[in-house]
Amino acid sequence: MAELDLSKKVADRYLKREVLGEGTYGVVYKAIDTETGQTVAIKKIRLGKQKEGVNFTALREIKLLKELKSPHIIELIDAFPHKGNLHLVFEFMETDLEAVIRDRNIFLSPGDIKSFLQMTLKGLAFCHKKWVLHRDMKPNNLLIGSNGQLKLADFGLARIFGSPDRRFTHQVFARWYRAPELLFGTKQYGSGVDVWAAACIFAELLLRRPFLQGSSDIDQLGKIFAALGTPSPSQWPDMVYLPDYVEYQYVPAPPLRSLFPVASDDALDLLSKMFTYDPKVRISAQQALEHRYFTSAPLPTDPDKLPRPAPKREPKASDFDSHEGPTVLSPPRKSRRVMPGRDGFEGNSLQRDKVEDNVGNSRQSAGDNTGKNDPAPMSLDFSVFGLKPPNRPTINSADRSHLKRKLDLEFQQPE
Ligand code: ADP
Repeated sequence: MAELDLSKKVADRYLKREVLGEGTYGVVYKAIDTETGQTVAIKKIRLGKQKEGVNFTALREIKLLKELKSPHIIELIDAFPHKGNLHLVFEFMETDLEAVIRDRNIFLSPGDIKSFLQMTLKGLAFCHKKWVLHRDMKPNNLLIGSNGQLKLADFGLARIFGSPDRRFTHQVFARWYRAPELLFGTKQYGSGVDVWAAACIFAELLLRRPFLQGSSDIDQLGKIFAALGTPSPSQWPDMVYLPDYVEYQYVPAPPLRSLFPVASDDALDLLSKMFTYDPKVRISAQQALEHRYFTSAPLPTDPDKLPRPAPKREPKASDFDSHEGPTVLSPPRKSRRVMPGRDGFEGNSLQRDKVEDNVGNSRQSAGDNTGKNDPAPMSLDFSVFGLKPPNRPTINSADRSHLKRKLDLEFQQPE
């Protein structure tokens, strides 16, 4: 019983505000930490129907994530179970890199692009040094604070809660950042998967649109090979032994310069090293940071001078799940629960907006140094955007109360 009281007390700490969006693992709320006055983002992860044993490894790993502190990693402030959901409390961030890339009013200078990439790689290098992989790197997982600092969000969650389900809208986007070894079904992968995704993000910063937009895993590999050439077995000896390996028609690599006409030589050299097929040969995040691209002119822009989208609109009353202002997360008020897919939740329309904006962005206005020589935009599969992601079970557990107790022990002891 003692642990339940403890759980309630921690949950009472947060005043729930509006829904920020629906992510891979569940709904994300804005909230106020009444102990510190800090604005936070709370990710509510549905634990689902429990069939198997309590996943203690998962809980241990969440505890490890709490220890992962770096200026370029979103801080996991707190974690607590409540009503069959796990709540992860993160520092609140103003915007994300996807919003920056798609904002047609924003001009990104070469120094700006360098700065965004440098912060991304710093976050990655820090986590890889601690043997933590991200596995779900994409521009909207790179959050940006009011001081322009970019921080990686959702670090390690893909490993703990499983890879996002491919039927989901989010996952369709995530595919565009997936390394070829993952697409060929490798079971043993390493930090190289995050570096590949960072390369896709680097390319997206240069092009102002997603670089490789596959509509299926097979198509994704086809897009990669068309852009970077089909890898030969000598280039990537392990490739032919991968579980889902299929032979693709040989396509020679077009010059990278033809795809990124306005990028500097240093930028292209780093990009090609990050896009190396053989993960054993692919540059690491730390090595990438030491590349001359970051020391040659122009230098990375100071984060507080980076362009950011105009502030988001003020939340409307309908965004709140109460008409009486903020509600306390616990004890819950059932009638006020906001559920995705009900109550006029706007997650999907936001997603659609993003896509429409992306399409608009595929032709950059003159004056954008990165986009005016874009090759024709690659095809976008609109059919996927009509899909409504169902709620997704995450941790399996035979014993919810056991799980609660374990979480209490793991997270709610005084610091
Ligand atoms: P996904 O799983 O698709 O990456 P997330 O679960 O990370 O999505 O986030 C869902 C929504 O919540 C997004 O709109 C994201 O911008 C917002 N969000 C997530 N974390 C934070 C945070 N720390 N601060 C502010 N907004 C956040």
